[in-house]
Amino acid sequence: MEIVNADLHNHFRTRTGEPFNVRYMDRILQSISKNIGRGSLIGLVNMVGREGDDRNFERFSQAISRSGIGVVKRRSGVIYVPNYDIAFVKGFEVATNIGHVLSMGVPDDLKLESSLTWQEIYRRVRDVGGANVIPHPYHFLEGVIKKLIDLGRKEEIGEMLRTSDAWEALNGEAKLFFNPNGDAIEAHKRLKREDYSLGCIGVSDGHSYSEAGVVYTRLGMPKAVSELIDNGSMGPAICEAVRASRVEDIVCQSELVPIIGATKHAIEILIHQIAHKSRQRDLTTI
Ligand SMILES: [Zn+2]
Repeated sequence: MEIVNADLHNHFRTRTGEPFNVRYMDRILQSISKNIGRGSLIGLVNMVGREGDDRNFERFSQAISRSGIGVVKRRSGVIYVPNYDIAFVKGFEVATNIGHVLSMGVPDDLKLESSLTWQEIYRRVRDVGGANVIPHPYHFLEGVIKKLIDLGRKEEIGEMLRTSDAWEALNGEAKLFFNPNGDAIEAHKRLKREDYSLGCIGVSDGHSYSEAGVVYTRLGMPKAVSELIDNGSMGPAICEAVRASRVEDIVCQSELVPIIGATKHAIEILIHQIAHKSRQRDLTTI
């Protein structure tokens, strides 16, 4: 058994569609490696909303292979950088009509759309050996558990808890928004007492490189990440490991970095929305 530091929920940027800068890849990897250490896992999540899939994983993959960083091993859904001994694994965060759901350790050819039900998303992810996780469960805008409670859909909450592999008890960026993390940690302890078998992870949910690796979970993996990429079993290994994870395995190295990241993220979204609205106004006046 290898203990692997894993920050499995990162975006690296807000959804602007700008390309990843090839020139800075070495510096970016140095910063991530300083945060989380060698032999680690970083989850890079494609955001899927009404406008489609932002393809951040694929664009990062292209930038890293053009960066001249040295040998990079690429398998379906995984990029491994031997110089830093870090693996980037693909995931999805899908904005469904009841909030966000998260998947991890999925192959390149999996397709998900925001029009799917969460049950259908879970089925597709499970079929390819990936893990289904409930992200920021009590987030006031995007938390599925908060939304299902508000809608009074108690049975569906039970169904989701029974079929999920893990629960995000600590989400770095959620610290900014009424800190729903305290509720999530307490709720997971209660779920354990009630014999739900889902694991418990901490992630950065960062929208910048500086946040990657600041919050992570110490996962018990069957082998080192360098070996898992060689035998192509990364997805199922992540799934097993997150199912067994506990609150005590979560490490949060900074209170400030995630809050600064979340503030920048919120401002960027606001600017994007204002620009979008003014574009729409321009079009209607033509
Ligand atoms: Zn996210």
